[in-house]
Amino acid sequence: MGTFSPATDVDLTSLNTLRLPARARYFARIETEQALQDALAWARKHGQQALVIGGGSNLVLCGDISGLVLHMAIMGRSWEVCGDGDAILTLGAGEDWHRVVMYACRAGYRGIENLALIPGTVGAAPVQNIGAYGAELKDTLVELRAWDAQQQAVVTLSGETCGFGYRDSVFKQHLDRYIILSVRLKLSRQRPFNLSYRELAEHFDNDTASYRSLTPLQVAEAVKAIRRRKLPDPDHLPNAGSFFKNPLVPWDTYQALKTAHPSLVAYEGEGEAKLAAAWLIDQCGWKGHREAHVGVHNKQALVLINHGNGTGPELMDLANRIRSDVEARFGVTLEMEPRRVP
Ligand SMILES: Cc1cc2nc3c(=O)[nH]c(=O)nc-3n(C[C@H](O)[C@H](O)[C@H](O)COP(=O)(O)OP(=O)(O)OC[C@H]3O[C@@H](n4cnc5c(N)ncnc54)[C@H](O)[C@@H]3O)c2cc1C
Repeated sequence: MGTFSPATDVDLTSLNTLRLPARARYFARIETEQALQDALAWARKHGQQALVIGGGSNLVLCGDISGLVLHMAIMGRSWEVCGDGDAILTLGAGEDWHRVVMYACRAGYRGIENLALIPGTVGAAPVQNIGAYGAELKDTLVELRAWDAQQQAVVTLSGETCGFGYRDSVFKQHLDRYIILSVRLKLSRQRPFNLSYRELAEHFDNDTASYRSLTPLQVAEAVKAIRRRKLPDPDHLPNAGSFFKNPLVPWDTYQALKTAHPSLVAYEGEGEAKLAAAWLIDQCGWKGHREAHVGVHNKQALVLINHGNGTGPELMDLANRIRSDVEARFGVTLEMEPRRVP
């Protein structure tokens, strides 16, 4: 601990994909587990709260951070072949998620190809159980190692004990209790691709017979092409992806809404339905809305944009007005997907 000395008054603008201005009172880039222990010991000694960030792609920075920001950069990739064409890929929390997806696909392994081009780090992926195109991290996560601030120890959690749900996990339910250090994914050379998502099936001309000859890399490239058409690149138009979760409502509520609004877009589940938040927002006239510094993307109403010089409070103000409109019109409450700090 004697050697740990954080940087002070660090600008976080380039470390969050919404490019919101904020400063960290103390800051350190963490490359090893020992460095993390040293940093946490320093924080305890100096009475500072620690906030772990990865790629900053699911954060809304609403002001300066008064404690210690730890930028996770623990790297590492290793394979364990299990037989039957399966393998376990162990990854350091600081690895870039999309690069890992492409790396696994190039090696011929299946399981995470639908999750290509999701920004951020491996360590943040379990926090909201990242998902896209009918796949979720939980489908492949076997276990992970994390620092547990409650037990003051490194613990191993199996996939079943991570409390995964739609954009949810124990890590989201108990923010800042766990710092994820590494993740183990079970991948396969044989498992069938999940091409049930309409746009993905259409990309391959709905030709199910041809699916057998596809490679994971071809599926990942298809996902990349679809995403690039739909979602703005944060490097050109700063954003945090979907700003709201798709609300889950009981079946009765869904039926009543569908009767009142026959064009309602929803994904039907057992006893409940997931409403398309983008449709609800679009119906309230927000798609393409632009204010001085912030706005709503003109192709995807779920994505809020910083047009430059926008601040966290400005963005939150816009988000709150969108929520109020959706609530007044449909009686449905939108829940924010990114984490707001402080
Ligand atoms: C253009 C765009 C598209 C997106 N598309 C999708 C999508 O399709 N599906 C999807 O699910 N998400 C999507 N996202 C959201 C985002 O990419 C994911 O949530 C991603 O996992 C965030 O990773 P990050 O490293 O940037 O996390 P950060 O934004 O840095 O942090 C997010 C949260 O995780 C915590 N955290 C970070 N690292 C750790 C760690 N090692 N241990 C414990 N907690 C940690 C932070 O404290 C914070 O609470 C998108 C975002 C953008 C900008």
